[in-house]
Amino acid sequence: MGRAIICLAPNEYVMWSSIVDAPIGHIRDRTATLEMLSKPDEADDWSRAMAALPEQADEIMARIDERGHSYRNLSAMSIQELIAANRAGPREESLTLAAIRERYASPQAMASFELTADKVLHYDDDQDDDLGGYCLSCRRNPCLNER
Ligand SMILES: [Zn+2]
Repeated sequence: MGRAIICLAPNEYVMWSSIVDAPIGHIRDRTATLEMLSKPDEADDWSRAMAALPEQADEIMARIDERGHSYRNLSAMSIQELIAANRAGPREESLTLAAIRERYASPQAMASFELTADKVLHYDDDQDDDLGGYCLSCRRNPCLNER
């Protein structure tokens, strides 16, 4: 568990934390990701975290090419399952894959991201009465879909 790199779309890689179930830092292309893995930039938090991964860049990339993520201890988990369990929104909402790609596209995108109902992954349409209208998907009361 912990940190790994996942592939969100062709040539879109991001550091993912299974502690917060969300990306850490913004999306980079394959070249930039490989560069970070092989030549860490000490001034950059993301780069230092990448360099701390206990493997060579080519080993990490080979595993991502095979399964979409580089978690060694989650080999049976698909990239779809990782995404389904995300809490990548500004208030830990579950975002759709498209919204994750939008929010983490760049540092500018991360700063200007605006959450709307269509960006929230609603895996359960039935609201639990015990939650008093609080939506587990978008973490709002009422649900963003019901506004
Ligand atoms: Zn909702």
